[in-house]
Amino acid sequence: MRRIGVIGGGAAGFFSAIHAAASGGQAIVFEKSTKLLSKVKVSGGGRCNVTNDCREISKLVRFYPRGEKFLKKVFGKFSVSDTIAWFENHKVPLKTEADGRIFPISDNSQSVIDALLEEAYRLGVSVKTQSAILEIRVLEQGFCLISESGQEIVDRVIITSGGHPKATAYNFIASLGHRIVAPIPSLFTFNTPGDSVRSLMGISMPSVHIRLEGTKLAYEGPLLITHWGVSGPAVLKLSAYGAAWLHGQSYQAVAQIRWDASFREDTLRSDLQAYREGHPKRKVGAHSLFQIPSRLWIFLLGKAEIDPDYLWNQISNKQINKLLENLFRFTINIDGKTTFKEEFVTAGGVSLEEISPSTMESKLVPGVFFAGEVMDIDGITGGFNFQAAWSTGYIAGTSVNQ
Ligand SMILES: Cc1cc2nc3c(=O)[nH]c(=O)nc-3n(C[C@H](O)[C@H](O)[C@H](O)COP(=O)(O)OP(=O)(O)OC[C@H]3O[C@@H](n4cnc5c(N)ncnc54)[C@H](O)[C@@H]3O)c2cc1C
Repeated sequence: MRRIGVIGGGAAGFFSAIHAAASGGQAIVFEKSTKLLSKVKVSGGGRCNVTNDCREISKLVRFYPRGEKFLKKVFGKFSVSDTIAWFENHKVPLKTEADGRIFPISDNSQSVIDALLEEAYRLGVSVKTQSAILEIRVLEQGFCLISESGQEIVDRVIITSGGHPKATAYNFIASLGHRIVAPIPSLFTFNTPGDSVRSLMGISMPSVHIRLEGTKLAYEGPLLITHWGVSGPAVLKLSAYGAAWLHGQSYQAVAQIRWDASFREDTLRSDLQAYREGHPKRKVGAHSLFQIPSRLWIFLLGKAEIDPDYLWNQISNKQINKLLENLFRFTINIDGKTTFKEEFVTAGGVSLEEISPSTMESKLVPGVFFAGEVMDIDGITGGFNFQAAWSTGYIAGTSVNQ
């Protein structure tokens, strides 16, 4: 029986260890901390968003700013439906929310942890906590895994050490000859410390269009104004696709917000002019238009230098244009980012060019496999990151004994 060393006790580590054991190997998980599956525990606000109900592979891969092409093959081998079936068959009934996110019916990430640990122990997977692997020495036959507490000889290795913002965390992989794409954060919210938009804290808009000036990056979705800046799915998506560009700008940039993605400039202008003609004696601040919350409406009037007590017939075309500009191209100054409490991930990691997507085996060092966020793969929020961990974990685990 082959001894399989799995480096990292997270989602990808346990899923690959389970499948390595199920396919006839003796799997040993090495976890550097005292806790197993700690990210699963806190994920999805403690509910664990295990996957997403996006079953079409060509659509699914579009949710990954990095890894899209590689994942096409991966998801062909272990799909969203396979994930659902696996958890349902392991006593974790799942439910799909209106936006496609899939959670355990229990609404408790512990159900996912219990299922993974129970199955691992049933299959005889052994676990060593407080065992940070510092070096993988390639032997004539197999590998020597070196930790502070000792050495372990294994036949094959699956590296599932997750993402890390520090490049040094990948040193033990780089020393095998693998290229590491510089790790940078993804999925963060934008800080706007000097921007008056923060006075609108608590306002959420269901479908904005947000664009980074100086790029072609633009996304639509809900936006939330917080006490430190802007957040919500539209911002997280922009942060993921703009991760490298924003990193290069030291997180200083200007974003343009269209408060409703369906706004069209010409229609907005004619609607504003028509309203002025139709309601000449009405105060501009009395009724907000276009389903804009009144607090935001008053704020936008201020930006357009329009006194809310003015009557519509006192508003000049120049002021209409200014209001239009603020409705259509409202600018915010981004200065910094926040990952606190968000579902942040690392972009970058082991280059996919050196990994086979059909086995997850290293093209450089036969016998070494990879799974999960340690690779240069990351998804946006919605269960996509775990789906990548389950799929790559399954492939690595089932291929390691072949
Ligand atoms: C707060 C938060 C919420 C999230 N919520 C969701 C969600 O709901 N849905 C979703 O799809 N994604 C979510 N994510 C992302 C998701 O958690 C990760 O993409 C996923 O956990 C990656 O799994 P992994 O096994 O590759 O890495 P990890 O879960 O990071 O596991 C890696 C493990 O390896 C260990 N390790 C590292 N180096 C070594 C070493 N040298 N030796 C031994 N052990 C080592 C680490 O201690 C860690 O336990 C969330 C992330 C965060 C931070």
